[in-house]
Amino acid sequence: MTVKICLLKSNNDFDMEYTYIVPEHLVSEIDVGVFVTVPFGKGNSLREALVVSVGDFCGEVGFKLKKINDIIRKREKLSPDLVELCREMQKRYLCAFGSIVSLMMPPELPEKRKIKFVKLTADAERVSSLLLGNELRGIKQIRCVEVLRDSENNVISLEALQRDFDIQKSSVDTLVKKGIAEIFEEEAEFCVNTYNEFEKQGGTYPVHELNEEQVKAFNNIKECIESPLSSGILLHGITGSGKTEVYLNAIKYVVEQGGSAIMLVPEIALTPQIVSRFKSRFGENIAVLHSRLTAAQKRNEYEKIKEGIVKIVIGARSAVFAPCKNLKLIILDEEQEPSYKSYDSTPYYCADEIAFMRSRMCGGAVVLGSATPRVTTYYESLSGKLKYSYLGNRASKGTLPGVCIVNMREESEKIPGSVFSKTLFAAMKKNYEAGKQTILFVPRRGYAGKLVCGDCGKTMVCRRCRIPMTYHKKGGRLICHYCGNTITVPEKCPSCNSSVFNSRSIGTESVEAEIKKYFENADVIRMDADTTTGKEGHKVLLEKFEKENIPFLVGTQMIAKGLDFPNVTLVGVLNADGLINIQEYTAGERAFQLLTQVFGRAGRGDDKGYGILQTMITDEPLYSAAINQEYDSFYKNEIGFREAAGYPPFVHICTVNVSGIDDKGAFSLATKLRSETEKIYDRIRLSRKEDFAELFKVTRSPVPKLNNRYRWIFNIKSKSKDALLEIMEEFAYKTLTGLSAFEKEAFRITFDIE
Ligand code: ADP
Ligand code: ZN
Ligand code: ZN
Repeated sequence: MTVKICLLKSNNDFDMEYTYIVPEHLVSEIDVGVFVTVPFGKGNSLREALVVSVGDFCGEVGFKLKKINDIIRKREKLSPDLVELCREMQKRYLCAFGSIVSLMMPPELPEKRKIKFVKLTADAERVSSLLLGNELRGIKQIRCVEVLRDSENNVISLEALQRDFDIQKSSVDTLVKKGIAEIFEEEAEFCVNTYNEFEKQGGTYPVHELNEEQVKAFNNIKECIESPLSSGILLHGITGSGKTEVYLNAIKYVVEQGGSAIMLVPEIALTPQIVSRFKSRFGENIAVLHSRLTAAQKRNEYEKIKEGIVKIVIGARSAVFAPCKNLKLIILDEEQEPSYKSYDSTPYYCADEIAFMRSRMCGGAVVLGSATPRVTTYYESLSGKLKYSYLGNRASKGTLPGVCIVNMREESEKIPGSVFSKTLFAAMKKNYEAGKQTILFVPRRGYAGKLVCGDCGKTMVCRRCRIPMTYHKKGGRLICHYCGNTITVPEKCPSCNSSVFNSRSIGTESVEAEIKKYFENADVIRMDADTTTGKEGHKVLLEKFEKENIPFLVGTQMIAKGLDFPNVTLVGVLNADGLINIQEYTAGERAFQLLTQVFGRAGRGDDKGYGILQTMITDEPLYSAAINQEYDSFYKNEIGFREAAGYPPFVHICTVNVSGIDDKGAFSLATKLRSETEKIYDRIRLSRKEDFAELFKVTRSPVPKLNNRYRWIFNIKSKSKDALLEIMEEFAYKTLTGLSAFEKEAFRITFDIE
């Protein structure tokens, strides 16, 4: 018997399938998905590998077949459908096989070592008096007591406190001195963290009888599940229309039929509230995969899923790889969220693509749920590739807030030296005096580096790509960081002929300072990258905002999500134009999603909410679509732009990114790679005459420097994804493997096809 294996640790040079002989004594144990060690290369050093197929292969002519050395028994076998998924992902993402396999393996159990733990010693009564009274001054100390109270046996490692909650030892020491907690040392697994916020939540949620729209949606999903062909459905429903209730019913149905289901939510939405809503419906039949589990806990959850002890998995992006048996349903809630795409490590997979790959293998259904679906998703539903269901009514009470647009070019709106318009300021004052809370939203990236017309507020955009260009003061030029196109700064604004340009931007700090100036003694919470360090920084500030009824919250994009505060009755967006001035073709779509979300924030409670959007651009169709929650009109406009300027879904884009500490070196390597690519590109284009394609110049990345590394990019566009894959396959396996050892070491080269 022989098998084909793939190495777990290899770069693209050796990333292929190799044939090995299975020794007699291992024959009974060998199977697809088993991990083995094999002698490899001239020196026959032992390498770890995965068996991808079993049969009687003859190997390559002229090579003597080697034997498998042994089976790695401590590694659990990967199920055949996941092995197939690995192979399919490799074709799609053109990355090392081992990096894909590692996405699907439960973590290995680490070595034991001595680590420090913190234990809560105060009793329940004391704890509640500590939390309610004012003996504890620091918010970190209060948070620490809460975390300890919610942890298993009231114990948590010091490391986890620091890492996940940003609580430093000094805060713990204070608690120890006061006799509230103690520190002790024990041999344990690395990174022990027994925080179980998801276990503690009890509560029951009412089961609702589905309304008419929900029933239709449910039946649509049921049809997908029952159909032997893989199929997907877009569940488009405004916030609060009862999508989750439909998911719960679909999952219940699948489980009753003996299948299993995966429910994906964006990392930030994976909260105890959502988990407990599922737990109250399905009890212990649920595994929750989240980033704070320890290796041992994660293995435990994997085990339960794999054995079929639990049929339902809830988790963030990577839970799409959960080893479910008889998988029949994968749901992506908030399908438009960028966090479904992995940006931080290769492969740069998209959870929705993986969901469809899995559904093709298992014949199950994929549900994409959203209030504001991606343009590409909606397009597919219109073209019939996806089924479609719409929920247009709020399932429970609550009304949409009244939102108005304030034109900042209007003299009568201006308050000298202020970022607030008269309308917004008056509303803030009224809200403050009524004891209500206000959220002010300041888009993060704003105008930085862009050239904006001082009269009409429009940004100078690239003629070809129709996205904002970057302004380089030195030399007075505008550069498109998409196609590399460079022009000199025009004398007059192409839209309104004005010759006044500016590049001013509003920051969260200046808004905070102004509030302090106008509203004496008013508390303000500011949330941006500076004030929310640590995983829990975000949460701590939001809790403070709610509990202490702080009148003002000022923040960047990060405050748009998941806020549900009954006392917030006013939401203001300062400089909405900053949202659409981003150098990405998805800027419009993101702006629409964000604005729809932030204005959904106001008026969750009994009082009606108000929203105010400040802008310089009065004829921006996106704004009126967002404030009136008109998805269709937004879509019509956006899809027109995508088609005219050549973006998905009409055109696929491959971005090659070269980064290095040496700026010049990264640029010249990018240039060299581009000319190599041009050769491949020319040849493939000839053989695929009909496919429109374009190869652009090397240009700085829209994020020119990250983690001390300079980034250069070039883009290729094509109507055919296959054409891009063909080009990039040769690029990955020939061009990249042919680089010098120095180039491979000093620079990082990644690419992404969308
Ligand atoms: P979405 O996920 O679309 O935002 P949810 O499923 O969370 O909406 O539902 C919003 C609210 O409406 C929840 O409080 C939920 O309990 C309630 N709800 C959902 N479906 C119904 C129904 N058929 N009848 C009454 N209330 C419902
Ligand atoms: Zn203008
Ligand atoms: Zn351009």
